[in-house]
Amino acid sequence: MDIKKLTLEEIRNLIESRVIKVRDVTEFYLKRAKELQEKTNAFITLDEENILNQVENLEKELERGFKGKLTGVPIAIKDNICTKNIRTTCASKILYNFIPPYDATVVERLKKEGAIIFGKTNMDEFAMGSSNETSYFGPVKNPWDWDRIPGGSSGGSAVAISAIQAPASLGSDTGGSIRQPASLCGVIGMKPTYGRVSRYGLIAFGSSLDQIGPFARTTKDCALVLEVISGYDPKDSTSINRENPEYSKGLSKDIRGLKIGVPKEYFIDGVEEDIVVNIQKAIDTFKNLGAEIYEISLPHTKYGIAVYYLIATAEASSNLARYDGVKYGYRAQNVKDLKQMYIKTKKEGFGEEVKRRIMLGTFSLASGYYDAYYKKASKVRTLIKQDFMSAFEKVDVILCPTSPTTAFKIGEKSNDPIQMYLSDIFTINVNLAGVPAMSIPCGFDRKGLPIGMQIMGNYFEEQKILNTSYAYESAVGGFKFSPFQEE
Ligand code: GLN
Repeated sequence: MDIKKLTLEEIRNLIESRVIKVRDVTEFYLKRAKELQEKTNAFITLDEENILNQVENLEKELERGFKGKLTGVPIAIKDNICTKNIRTTCASKILYNFIPPYDATVVERLKKEGAIIFGKTNMDEFAMGSSNETSYFGPVKNPWDWDRIPGGSSGGSAVAISAIQAPASLGSDTGGSIRQPASLCGVIGMKPTYGRVSRYGLIAFGSSLDQIGPFARTTKDCALVLEVISGYDPKDSTSINRENPEYSKGLSKDIRGLKIGVPKEYFIDGVEEDIVVNIQKAIDTFKNLGAEIYEISLPHTKYGIAVYYLIATAEASSNLARYDGVKYGYRAQNVKDLKQMYIKTKKEGFGEEVKRRIMLGTFSLASGYYDAYYKKASKVRTLIKQDFMSAFEKVDVILCPTSPTTAFKIGEKSNDPIQMYLSDIFTINVNLAGVPAMSIPCGFDRKGLPIGMQIMGNYFEEQKILNTSYAYESAVGGFKFSPFQEE
């Protein structure tokens, strides 16, 4: 049996029918994760003892007749999601020794359905970045070309899938951190509607933007993980109490009559030609499947980056105030008093990009500047949201590139924050509006690097997005998500 080729549902069914053991699957992925770690650097922590303990416990549960949606499926978790008794660093020196005493709600839900909580994946420090180069634990490398970045901030979670170090993973998306690395690594990544998935236990960056979501190889795998982690959670005051569909059962390839909007503002100068060509081909595929294509306009698109870098940094400056060396995490040594301890801890514990964001956010919230910056940004945010709401009166889903470029070289943009910020030009507005969106593979450029296509939907219409992906995936005969797929 070729374990690496199994879908999540196949893993679960084969384990529950006793054809394979939980141990077979986990050991296969542990071996691969370790073998490739030096090349990918996808994991910050791989706690083998903890993982094998989970395997043992699950084997016992199975004896007692346990059944779950993800029985025995190893799922890698981004290192900003709290895992009980497993170190959770946020890829920062300031949390390098933090061991959470509790599980995030998403982790609890995965465990309840029988998943094995696998390694903790590398990321940009505090999820701030688009290339995974700001991690305290070093950059992650893209398996399609080891000299290139995997995207960020959930770079490790994306690479774990495309290097086949795990069959599925979780990431977080504040401005594109699931979709952009999914796109650059040739895998599926989905950011659900804001409020659909609990943020309890997700280390906060921009609280009004952050959402947890899955990375996967197939639409069905993605749907299955999404339905497990979704749902109301009283521990998160922004969690929304409404029906939680079984997306994997609701999948349909029939998209005849589906209205697809193509926003003209997303096909601008600076988008690589191969990307435009491939998205155009995908649009033709959708036409052949019976969908109707409409050109639409999202007129405030161009303000997205500016608005995001005011709102996200403002929220971050407040969220990150808690890392002061007192309660947990890193504490600076050899200090003469409390104030010096605070200053030295933050100075030594945070990296450059995190400090830049804290300073920007503090500035824009300062009295006298608040009206000019934060308040204005919030107003433009409303206009961006209204763009989506009027678009979704006319169309069911919106289609566009996920990223203006394919994976760039390590170091290429790391000294130019503005260039780096532009990587998220097509993903950020979705977070500002709070709508769901997914990135799926859409062919390769001339260098052989993966291209991603983004499908956006109206609030709580994840099923429509998934069905659009499912129809496309079937039409193209499945996705090539890894350079190692056929080995
Ligand atoms: N790249 C964006 C940033 O650096 C988005 C990050 C994210 O979604 N966490 O803020």
